[in-house]
Amino acid sequence: MALSAFTAPGRFWRGNLHTHSDRSDGVLPPQEVCRRYQAEGYDFIALTDHFIGAYGYPITDTTPFRGNSFTTIPGAELHSGAMANGELWHILAVGLPEDFTAPDAPGFHPVAGQESGPEIAARARAAGAFVVIAHPQWSGLTLADARSIDAAHAVEIYNHGCATGCDRADGAHTADLLLSAGRRLSLIATDDAHFSEPDHFGGWVMVKAEANEPELLLDALKRGDFYSSQGPELRGVTLERDAVRVECSAVSTVIVQGHGSAATAQHGASMTGAELPLERLRNSPWLRVTVIDRAGKRAWSNPIWR
Ligand SMILES: [Zn+2]
Ligand SMILES: [Zn+2]
Repeated sequence: MALSAFTAPGRFWRGNLHTHSDRSDGVLPPQEVCRRYQAEGYDFIALTDHFIGAYGYPITDTTPFRGNSFTTIPGAELHSGAMANGELWHILAVGLPEDFTAPDAPGFHPVAGQESGPEIAARARAAGAFVVIAHPQWSGLTLADARSIDAAHAVEIYNHGCATGCDRADGAHTADLLLSAGRRLSLIATDDAHFSEPDHFGGWVMVKAEANEPELLLDALKRGDFYSSQGPELRGVTLERDAVRVECSAVSTVIVQGHGSAATAQHGASMTGAELPLERLRNSPWLRVTVIDRAGKRAWSNPIWR
């Protein structure tokens, strides 16, 4: 059984799903953000400004910046309700309709009576969005917090802005615990770019679709037909009877992870393929693949269920 990202028709399109502009606390206007991503070789972005009252609840119109080789998916970073640590929820919503009803979220602090995080996430999913638990480590998310977001399609396994700004980029711990709780989630790498520091072009998704069109990309995201990267390419991930076969650009490490402490790795100089035996992962209901190149850059597959 191969991960569907590698068997679905079409080709991979490179995109960043978490981006800010000067419509919220980013530095650059939306047009310049789009121009820079296109110039860097991206096929699409989702501009996801902070959806709070202080910024006028922006769902920024990026349609004027689409072109023959670049497109955009409307979105926002949603904020409402408190996490266990008392801070405001951050939930990414990609593919949000422009008439999405604003919560009562005046600023970056929770206020009494506002919608909870799980409630606004559910409302975004019902409105058609691809819903993501953003930067779990940066947020100080507890497992109970993460489990409460029933509507999530995905978790940010890597957030480049959180790596740059505070060395709290990781989402793998939260994601793995949710997978072991039976939650069928995808994993995305993002920039969370504000262009206020070197927080851009560091983590992206490669989405398999028949054309670089917003609706097709959004459907592929919801199906999990993508992988995430900081550099390496994944070209195939196939679950065989007692091994996982991985094809990729040249990397020095290929790892398969599963439930609990289960993992197995292969190391080399510039491997473009590996077959990893599953003895240590025999009892894991899910598996995922990470590859690491000589520069330390990673790519992550979505989980495979069995
Ligand atoms: Zn955030
Ligand atoms: Zn953000």
